[in-house]
Amino acid sequence: MSAGGEKSMRSLCIVMRTANYRENDKMLSLFSRDSGRIDALARGCRKDTSSLLSSTDVFCCADFSFTISKDRYYVTQAELKNSFFGLRKNMSSLLTAMVLIEIAEKIVMPHEGNPRLFALLASALHALSNGEDSDKVLIFFSFKLLDNQGMRPVTDECTVCGRAPADRLSILSGGTVCDEHDGIDVPHFYIESIRKILETPSKDLMTCRFEYDKVLAKLSLDWVRTAFDLELKSAELVK
Ligand SMILES: [Zn+2]
Repeated sequence: MSAGGEKSMRSLCIVMRTANYRENDKMLSLFSRDSGRIDALARGCRKDTSSLLSSTDVFCCADFSFTISKDRYYVTQAELKNSFFGLRKNMSSLLTAMVLIEIAEKIVMPHEGNPRLFALLASALHALSNGEDSDKVLIFFSFKLLDNQGMRPVTDECTVCGRAPADRLSILSGGTVCDEHDGIDVPHFYIESIRKILETPSKDLMTCRFEYDKVLAKLSLDWVRTAFDLELKSAELVK
């Protein structure tokens, strides 16, 4: 498929960010399941008649085709799989989706596929779009993300000394701790819920039942921020 140094590629992607460019174009920041972060130009996609129109908005999940020329990606086709339209019906779903996208944007690297994170993000957007409680989705996403990225929270022993844990969590130590170490006292169900989430596949978010509250939602986001050293602009909006 190469002519004059051009290559082509096809991949399932989620649109993480868009910026208008020239009269009818957009620059897209994409999370490709197979290739990680891709910045691509979608020419003419803002025209009413463009076949790319419906697939080039933030949150859209579509099968994108590209030509690659001099390391630049140009969208040639996009087949929409899900626009997660329901996100736009509820402010708290929308704001949470923005937080999840911002987290993904900061973690996904160019040329590095991350199918597990892709599946988790798609599952979380699907749940939010279908009216699942936004705190529940945020909590589930956060703990699965930590696990996927090699920072699985410890829940069965003191992360510092290995003794039986108390109902105490330490974000800096990466999980439960005993009474001897710095941590925050939490209701026992927090630890049960984290365990439950860790043993549930991402795709089963909607059917996973666990107990939670607002404080656990805030704690889960703080955990992600600390673990990945993230400054999240959108997180200010969901307080
Ligand atoms: Zn200990």
